[in-house]
Amino acid sequence: MDKKFASQADLEEKKVSFDKLSNHAYAYTAEGDPNTGIVIGDDAVMVIDTQATPVMAQDVIARIRTVTDKPIKYVTLSHYHAVRVLGAAGYKPQQIFASRDTYDLIVERGEADMKSEIGRFPRLFRAVESVPGLTWPTVVFEKRLTLWMGNLQVELLQLGRGHTKGDTVVWLPQDRVLFSGDLVEYEATPYTGDAYLSDWPATLDAVEALNPAKLVPGRGAALMSPEAVRAGLNGTRAFVEAMFESVRKGVAMGNDLRTIYHDTYATLKPRFGHWVIFDHCLPFDVSRAYDEATDHRDPRIWTAQRDKDMWQALEG
Ligand SMILES: [Zn+2]
Repeated sequence: MDKKFASQADLEEKKVSFDKLSNHAYAYTAEGDPNTGIVIGDDAVMVIDTQATPVMAQDVIARIRTVTDKPIKYVTLSHYHAVRVLGAAGYKPQQIFASRDTYDLIVERGEADMKSEIGRFPRLFRAVESVPGLTWPTVVFEKRLTLWMGNLQVELLQLGRGHTKGDTVVWLPQDRVLFSGDLVEYEATPYTGDAYLSDWPATLDAVEALNPAKLVPGRGAALMSPEAVRAGLNGTRAFVEAMFESVRKGVAMGNDLRTIYHDTYATLKPRFGHWVIFDHCLPFDVSRAYDEATDHRDPRIWTAQRDKDMWQALEG
């Protein structure tokens, strides 16, 4: 193969930042590695996306303990991807929240996704042996759940399909802070292998309509002003639309997937090639876009074997 599979060659540890967005909101970010959000209510702490393993969660807990002694009672899963959810046990939460669609995806493809993701990006699964198995939500909601953490109003909102069909954002209306999960990325390439590309831009519009003052993306630095939030939303929208448009054009011309992949890579590289994990994501992204542009309304399940076959077909 020309390129090493997915991110198996990415071994360099990133520098962690722990930023305060408001009196109730912090962001644990790591130069494009998956982010974790923290909400501090009057009586408890919520963690949004857990990191990939319980051992990795310990570093998040250590940062939380520099700002509060309150118990970590809640975990919210923005979506089902292993790299964000398998650290949940490390927090010993009382409740784990997820949308009904995310729960359904864990039932349907959680096991396959876990094996696939560990194979794609081993560095992000430090101490993978500490993962006790799949993470199961204890509270499942449809579309919207409101949690009062004392006086702090916390809205779990499913605004539409995008990165997955179950995407959930966490919104603090009093502070105007939003945690987006992978619906929004900042200077990191959106992974769209399980996405609904036709729906994603409208879901970003729904995020924008909340008018967040600050936003924690799924990957990349915390966005600390309305201008930065807009840049994150616009960048994600631009990538999703340009990638899908290029693939649809290739499909309309009757090109095969491999040709469409190389054409799309060449089209997007000058504009987005400097974003982290560009080379990792693009083969998966184009594969999904091709499916959606042809005859798969719903994303097909990625398995460790399908990953390798696809990579060989596009990059080999
Ligand atoms: Zn994801």
